[in-house]
Amino acid sequence: MSLPGLLSRAKAIAALPPLGVLTLAGMTPTDWSVTLHETKSVTDELVHRIVSEAPTLVAISALTASILEGYALSTRLRAEGIAVVLGGLHVTALPEEAALHADAIVVGDGEPVWHQVLADAENGHLRARYRATAPFDLAHAPLPRFDLLGDVARPRFTLQTSRGCPFACDFCGASRLLGPFRTKPATRVRDELRAITARDPRAWIELADDNTFAEGGPHDDLLSVLGESGARWFTEADWRLGENPAVLERLAASGCVQVLVGLESRVHRHRGMGAKAAPPTRMMDAVEAIQAVGVAVIGCYIVGSDGETRESIQRLRRFLDRDPCADAQITLQTPFPGTALRQRLEDEQRLLADRDWSRHTLFDVTYRPDCMGAEELEVAFVELLRDAFGEEPTRRRHQVRRQVWRRHPLLCGEVPS
Ligand code: SF4
Repeated sequence: MSLPGLLSRAKAIAALPPLGVLTLAGMTPTDWSVTLHETKSVTDELVHRIVSEAPTLVAISALTASILEGYALSTRLRAEGIAVVLGGLHVTALPEEAALHADAIVVGDGEPVWHQVLADAENGHLRARYRATAPFDLAHAPLPRFDLLGDVARPRFTLQTSRGCPFACDFCGASRLLGPFRTKPATRVRDELRAITARDPRAWIELADDNTFAEGGPHDDLLSVLGESGARWFTEADWRLGENPAVLERLAASGCVQVLVGLESRVHRHRGMGAKAAPPTRMMDAVEAIQAVGVAVIGCYIVGSDGETRESIQRLRRFLDRDPCADAQITLQTPFPGTALRQRLEDEQRLLADRDWSRHTLFDVTYRPDCMGAEELEVAFVELLRDAFGEEPTRRRHQVRRQVWRRHPLLCGEVPS
């Protein structure tokens, strides 16, 4: 993780505000007082700090790789007599497991059940499980409590304009766990943008979307409010964005500087692409079209899918030497709970028993590949990262980014982190 090209992206991701709990805080009645504790690990100091506040309820949200620490924190707080509710993607995928570690769990969207959770906590009668009866309508999205972040400067803020994804790539939980694909009305997005830019007029924003622009169309309203805000923003989208001239025409002027695009794998047997599968040349043309308007593309590659071999990893390494993308993200295929991929590997008895949730980092091998040994894949992956994120390739991609951003109508020579 100390490679130069990886470090900057890892730092940016680690500093993103925790939007889920900030959103629930935003819909918490004003007669409650709310505090936020962001942490990388469970420490005595953290536990004492929370216990000293004598909270009625502690809500913990954690991703799969940190869920064991979430459980550990919950256990320590419950031992002090404090009620704990757990939620998030991992809890939604594995409610039976999560229920063993909390007084209550929230399965799926938190917003529809949050008031009930609070009322029950106040009365001392939390139910074991809360699940919304219908997907949350983002037209009613509350303003996240960005004020809870304190005065520390944030490199980026997060804002959600849509939830879920209409596709169903087999390694991705977003399309299954978050309910149907929904978009937030542009007027609500504008309110959140105002709240963020009131804190920091030069804010950089990362859209916490799974696939912005997924449903095609011109997206005029969204691009207008983003443009009016004056913010610079990043997002994730699928490669078809490069074939959407109506959006491309306004993308840079709306403040977009970078998009992360899943190019997934150059292994022909890769099943993960789902409905967005296309010949690599078509996807690369789309990348070029996005970058032609001044928006840099982070190309995402997944290593270790079925059919991966030492030779195919070498091919990817050679391709990365001339990859037109302004940046790259390379991760190991990871069977997160709730995905079709995990189900398949489980059925085929290929999950490695000694890899617990803390190893689901996107950088650890957690299953037996079909054409290589697990250790062989591990070694080849580390070698690939070393080559792809060493000083020279990092410098080359930095130059590509500068070239792309020279075309950007708003950046005026700025280089985002
Ligand atoms: S396109 Fe992206 S967000 Fe949508 S299912 Fe595939 S990986 Fe998930």
